[in-house]
Amino acid sequence: QACHVLLGLTGARAVSVHFSDELGSLRQAYRHAEGGLNDPGSLEAEVSLVRRACEERTLVSAVAGGRGWLGAPLLRLGLDSATVLGAVALGYAQPSASDPERESALVAAARLLRDARVIQLALQRSRVQAEIFEQTADAVILTDLEGRVLSWNAASRELFGWSAAEAVGRGASFLVPESELPRARELAALARSEGRASFEAERLRKDGARVAVEGTLALMRDEHDEPFGMVGSFRDITKRKQVERMRTEFIALVTHELRTPLTAIYGFAETLFDLWDEVTAEQRRKYLRIMLDESKRLTDLVTDFLDITKLESGAVDTVVTEVDLEAVARRAADLFKLHPNRPRFAVEVAPGARKLWGDEEQLYRLLVNLCGNAAKYSPTGGTITIAAAADGADVRLSVADQGPGIAAQDLPRLFEKFFRASDTVARKTPGTGLGLTICKGIVENHKGRITIESAPGKGARFIATLPREALKTP
Ligand code: ADP
Repeated sequence: QACHVLLGLTGARAVSVHFSDELGSLRQAYRHAEGGLNDPGSLEAEVSLVRRACEERTLVSAVAGGRGWLGAPLLRLGLDSATVLGAVALGYAQPSASDPERESALVAAARLLRDARVIQLALQRSRVQAEIFEQTADAVILTDLEGRVLSWNAASRELFGWSAAEAVGRGASFLVPESELPRARELAALARSEGRASFEAERLRKDGARVAVEGTLALMRDEHDEPFGMVGSFRDITKRKQVERMRTEFIALVTHELRTPLTAIYGFAETLFDLWDEVTAEQRRKYLRIMLDESKRLTDLVTDFLDITKLESGAVDTVVTEVDLEAVARRAADLFKLHPNRPRFAVEVAPGARKLWGDEEQLYRLLVNLCGNAAKYSPTGGTITIAAAADGADVRLSVADQGPGIAAQDLPRLFEKFFRASDTVARKTPGTGLGLTICKGIVENHKGRITIESAPGKGARFIATLPREALKTP
């Protein structure tokens, strides 16, 4: 509308408005032309005039292709510099001498367009900010200086459970557990004096549960540098805390488990060293045997620890291919040809369950661990059956033995780290109690789950239910 008024006022046949974007490139926002001012030559002349108006920051005119052009920049004056927001251009069918009335109309129009553009930019910016506030993954809460909630974004609703309608207007201390109130007050005071405070703490959810958060409080100041509110942003760190706790527990467990074989090795080495001449040749052999066994156990423990740590931290390299389960099963069975218990193997892979997308080495390790258990916990022999059967989109990969089986009370704890059943067979058989934890890690890495079917005296069957294509990349 403004452009058409301008056409009427100045007698021009073409008018165009260009705005410069965030990166300073000029973009045409509006153009209207008549009377033959629509040809490529005119457009080109107009664009170069607009550029000049922006560069020279003043009213400019040009004659090109027998037409006359007049342009004015949209200037926003700051205290010590001016920003160019764009330009407005007029085109005439014939060039004419400079006309003060036209020029002042154009300058006035440029000012109006500039004001409109400033408002438009401000609105856009506040819309962008509102969108960022609402969409950010962190819970962001705006309060006044008294701590009353003014804004509450979607992530706050997600993290704390209260809707914006429930939270706005309340004092933000409803999020703070009783025991943390003094510290929360200190943090708020720190943010007021320093402008900012970062912390880790627990906050309350609507359902009463506590959630571990990492947070920042920042003081907000207005254009006169007066504080007017506080922004708090919070991030859920429950997972990280859990991982930290697990790691500490794991380290404690590992240290404990390493100490037993180390103590034995140290003790027997010391005895042999001090009493070499006093102990019989038979005793020496016995002690050395124990040291050898315990060193083997240490090596196994360390290898298993590393595997578990890698699996749990997601640092394990997973090389996905379409794996032939029949081949992997045969490879695993072949490994036990020289096992002292001489287990017999049966491999039963159904045709529809032969192929699975996964990591061949990990699946091999899974079968070797399960077959290893089946072999070592079945001292009286029997057949170990490795089977794969299709089940919808899954493959049920199982290892079954005819050994002593597992007591019902031990079943739920079998996949725990270092867990070993309490019966005599398990007690007498060397092991780390980590094999099944590794199996579970491998199965979960393949987006599957592992279960057991067993009863005392009835053998044990470990079943990995693996989605056939979960790891397939398109
Ligand atoms: P490890 O064999 O090193 O002790 P695992 O994690 O592989 O550790 O197994 C945990 C426990 O589960 C074993 O100690 C044993 O008591 C029991 N177990 C595993 N597989 C079998 C099986 N095939 N038959 C009987 N018990 C088993």
